Amino acid sequence: MYARFLGGLRAFLRHTITPAEARAAVARRLAEREATLLHVAERGFFGAPRSPYRELFRIAGCELSDFRQLVRDRGIEGALRSLREAGVYFSFEEFKGRQPVVRNGREIAIEPADFDNPWLSHYYHRTTSGTTGLGTRVSTDLDHLALEAEHRLLCFEAHGVAEAPYALWRPPLPAGSGINSVLRGARANRPPVKWFTPFVPEEFRPPLRHRLANGMIIAAGRALGAALPWPEPVPLDQAIRIARWMADARDARGQALLNTTVSGGLRVGLAARDAGVDLTGKVFMVAGEPASPAKVRGIRASGATHFTDYGMAEGGRLGIGCVNALDENDVHLLTDAYAVITWPREVPLAGATLESYHITHLHPTASKLLLNVEFDDYGIVEERLCGCPLESLGLRFHLRGIRSFGKLTGEGVTLVGSEMVHILEEVLPARFGGSALDYQLLEEEDEVGLTRLTLLVAPHLDIGDEAALVAEMHAALARESLAADVARAFWAQAGTFRVRREPPRAGSRGKQMSIHSARRRPG
Ligand SMILES: [Zn+2]
Repeated sequence: MYARFLGGLRAFLRHTITPAEARAAVARRLAEREATLLHVAERGFFGAPRSPYRELFRIAGCELSDFRQLVRDRGIEGALRSLREAGVYFSFEEFKGRQPVVRNGREIAIEPADFDNPWLSHYYHRTTSGTTGLGTRVSTDLDHLALEAEHRLLCFEAHGVAEAPYALWRPPLPAGSGINSVLRGARANRPPVKWFTPFVPEEFRPPLRHRLANGMIIAAGRALGAALPWPEPVPLDQAIRIARWMADARDARGQALLNTTVSGGLRVGLAARDAGVDLTGKVFMVAGEPASPAKVRGIRASGATHFTDYGMAEGGRLGIGCVNALDENDVHLLTDAYAVITWPREVPLAGATLESYHITHLHPTASKLLLNVEFDDYGIVEERLCGCPLESLGLRFHLRGIRSFGKLTGEGVTLVGSEMVHILEEVLPARFGGSALDYQLLEEEDEVGLTRLTLLVAPHLDIGDEAALVAEMHAALARESLAADVARAFWAQAGTFRVRREPPRAGSRGKQMSIHSARRRPG
């Protein structure tokens, strides 16, 4: 597998792209949008024996010829809405294989691997930041990274930072965000000059195969002549070191760009403000969790500006930050490669109806083949003329007001709610007494905007030491899966969990849920 990957890496790094080439590629894909989806549908949905979509289409009474007609008559988005209405979609829990897929009273047997793209050629495996013990793996194809490199180059150019000294504060494999950003930068002939990693060996040591893969990609890239940086550990509580790098780079070159999580950006901003380091003229590119108003205020308090992009491990990088953003996560939907529709969805955790994003991959390079798949994110999709350079590429649709339901987000790592429910409802009562009704997790922001996961524990329970409770949460996460252990490593370092002796709260319908979301609707 790695030999194949390295063979592809040589071609990937040799053919670096210019902004003009990236613009032309986006224009070409936009022009071929419907034809590409029809090709994917023919070979990947209708023609692939293991495709989970085949059965959905069959139950909906939609054959390939109907699908073609639908796309011709109603356009891609109109067709996707009609299909959603006919039951052609997957919820996130179904996609992950954690909930049976039942349509029209019939159950469809699927495995998470059935969504894998059969056309991938040069890839390596990473874990998503929030997967389960089922061991979902995501492969990243170099062709897909090449497409993402075009998007990112155009985004950097629109924000005027294409030439800025560029650093990452992102973890190495098994998390994909760091190595992917290094390779996307190299493809555009602008690899990051620094790669800071928040993983410190005392907190988390990735499994050997991931350390080897990460090291091999960097070493191979360097041997091929690309100036790829080795990761340097900088733990979360030493954010001031990142702020100082940014200040020095700005003084030397007039600008500096840091790619990190929203929480990472906030940490650097707060550390700079506390130490009196002025970050005026510096720019953060943040992603990994929805940027909230409080977090953005904290980032901007340092004098820096920020823009965002939006995506998820299996869903791809769907959006790049608008230069004239209307809110803190207003992005241009990359309609050359993706389609997103919204559909009303009742959310048990919030007891509300939300406009859930349904994601479709138009391009056959993504790691998964997706058609109307929910990722438990919701928000607005709108066509808007913003007047920024990204609009002139033909990217007229925006996603904004983006929030997650059913996922816990903090420090740029996400954990699916159902994994945490197991810990809250079974692990903690078994160890500390009480029942599932006595524990609840509340996601909220503290006074400076950092995300905290507050464990509400019924006051009548005698749990003894609160620190032991937090230690048990950490230990239980480490047991769940590698991805949950990555989340634990961040949350332990950041002190994300705290305990409050308070009765768990009822939802808006009087029903108590293990995880209570304090998040509001967008708007
Ligand atoms: Zn714009």
